[in-house]
Amino acid sequence: MRTLLTVLFISMLAIPTSFAAELKLKYFGAAGWEITDGKVVVLVDPYLTRAKVTVGPSHPDDTRPAYDRNKAAVSDTKVIDEHITKADFILVHHSHNDHLSDVPYIAKKTGAKVIGTETTTTILKAYGVPADQLYTVRGGEDYQFENFSVRVVPSIHSALGEKHYYDSREYKNPDELEIPLTINQFIEGRSLMFLARFDGKNVLTMGSMNFIEREMDGLNPDVLLAGINGSRLGLYNYDERLVRSTGMPKVIIPTHWDNFRLPYGFSQEDNVKNKLIPFKETVAKISPNSEVIIPQHLGTITLK
Ligand SMILES: [Zn+2]
Repeated sequence: MRTLLTVLFISMLAIPTSFAAELKLKYFGAAGWEITDGKVVVLVDPYLTRAKVTVGPSHPDDTRPAYDRNKAAVSDTKVIDEHITKADFILVHHSHNDHLSDVPYIAKKTGAKVIGTETTTTILKAYGVPADQLYTVRGGEDYQFENFSVRVVPSIHSALGEKHYYDSREYKNPDELEIPLTINQFIEGRSLMFLARFDGKNVLTMGSMNFIEREMDGLNPDVLLAGINGSRLGLYNYDERLVRSTGMPKVIIPTHWDNFRLPYGFSQEDNVKNKLIPFKETVAKISPNSEVIIPQHLGTITLK
């Protein structure tokens, strides 16, 4: 009897390991996420400072002083410390300030490995992040780590300035950068996407409203973090090309759709109404089996 109970007890203990882990995705706003399967914690473009700048939309109730884009970008370490305690990896899509400017502080605080372009890792070296924490990539790499693997997907930046935007600058030498950088000195420095493979689920991440359609071939993500902001409307058939080329993912979560110059706690309902609800309706027609989940700031989406 005792043996039977022991066998029963051991097999009960073993049951949970035969199921794929839950995947939890917490939205920081902008293109920022914390994704974990319980084994590995991955941050994507974590930008929590949400600086108010002197250009672009602002809110009369946001009484913080506005930043001059030509003055040093300062991270809000209080808000970062409230929400980020642990990270194993940080994936950075490109080097604009709303993707990278909080990463020097977060990388030093957590010791997380950072994967990004040469411009991204050059900036991080200039900020004193140790070189053995940094992986410089250009797109096409497929790296295996303990409990986690990631394919780096070549991409392109959102078409800004009514499609006239193009910035070919890159940083290569950390000694030439004077720290802290200004918001304007956080240049794009090429753009990436990532196929992040967790226990049981693959997540395809975007940091822009643009992509190279042929690079989506065969990725078949379970979850797509889809760049859904206004600039995509200037691209040919963006929503349909994105949903179809990524294999009509089961779960699609819009990213980079909010006004990231407003602090947490301010309503983003206009953006939900004007960008996300129409996107959800479009996806329902293109791919009725895809579920579009609308994320809330600092809310966690749990996928079984
Ligand atoms: Zn950008």
